[in-house]
Amino acid sequence: VDTSSAQEFDCKEKLVLPGFIDCHTHALFAGSRENELSMKLDGRSYMEILKRGGGILRTVRDTRNASDERLKSETRKRLDRMISNGTTTFEIKSGYALNLEGELRLLRVLRELKNEGYDIEPTLLSAHAIPEEYSGRSSAYVDEVVIPSIDECAKLKLATFCDVFMEEGAFGEAETERILNHAAERGMKLKLHADEFSDLGGANLAAKLEVISADHLAKSSLRGIEQMGKKDVIGVLLPGTQFSSLTGTFADAKAYSQAGTPVALATDLSPNSWIESMQFVINIACYGMKMTPEQAIAGATINAAHAISRGSISGSLELGKDADVLVTGLSNSYELPYRIASNNLKMVFKKGRLIRELSDR
Ligand code: FE
Repeated sequence: VDTSSAQEFDCKEKLVLPGFIDCHTHALFAGSRENELSMKLDGRSYMEILKRGGGILRTVRDTRNASDERLKSETRKRLDRMISNGTTTFEIKSGYALNLEGELRLLRVLRELKNEGYDIEPTLLSAHAIPEEYSGRSSAYVDEVVIPSIDECAKLKLATFCDVFMEEGAFGEAETERILNHAAERGMKLKLHADEFSDLGGANLAAKLEVISADHLAKSSLRGIEQMGKKDVIGVLLPGTQFSSLTGTFADAKAYSQAGTPVALATDLSPNSWIESMQFVINIACYGMKMTPEQAIAGATINAAHAISRGSISGSLELGKDADVLVTGLSNSYELPYRIASNNLKMVFKKGRLIRELSDR
């Protein structure tokens, strides 16, 4: 290796970490939904807001109406702030177009952002919600949009993963299984939004289909969690979403360590839950879900790498892996979860290159 042009950085007595891997985001969208906070505070649930044409459906309208350039510029700003908070790899889902051409357009926009240098793992989530024009006709939506989007996506290699939002009011178990089986046949890897608001048996289905990760899991049964562990399915917990949805409850993180089911953490950044900082997610994982500092940091790094099938190339500081490195202003790893909503970083490196330097840390 030629190191003649290498630069030296003094990190003495500073906590150094692998870059955070945000393994579950909906970061590609247009617009904002700040008005929904007041609705949530008035006691309206996520599903009620959706039924009134808000929620995902509003973001679908905004995203469909936005040009590629606008989508890219709004998303770039978010990704840049996430990098400043230590995220060096992003999983990003489609799912705010909900028609064939639109979903493919979103994945093409992600490819363009990737070509600009953002390290993005793209996921097809055409099964995110039933759009208004298919209201009450979910099976027609699956036939006419979801299945063709998988076929096109696999052919054009636009996404690594296929994901489904399995929930009452979204996609049921039989539809979810059909969609994911179809994606697996087309060579895509699988993910599942499971048991976020109710226990529909999503964790069990995730184990049965041996998906790479099942995500959300706030209401999963103990048996489902154990089944996931047996099949090496990673549980991606998203405590920020619980926090911002005002549900007052979190996933049962202890059940995962008892069952031997690995846990990864992510922001779930979306217009419903605008969280750009993995450091803040680590805070809520400890203060809200009562994970240990060690579990939370592993969840944001190596386990998150495995949740997007990147475990062999990132997620830890090891010879042969990408040098995605965070240099903090902290002296030990316990300070990181302890300090709430701080940005504790001094430097962010991506593949050995300094991409962010933050002052006054
Ligand atoms: Fe999500």
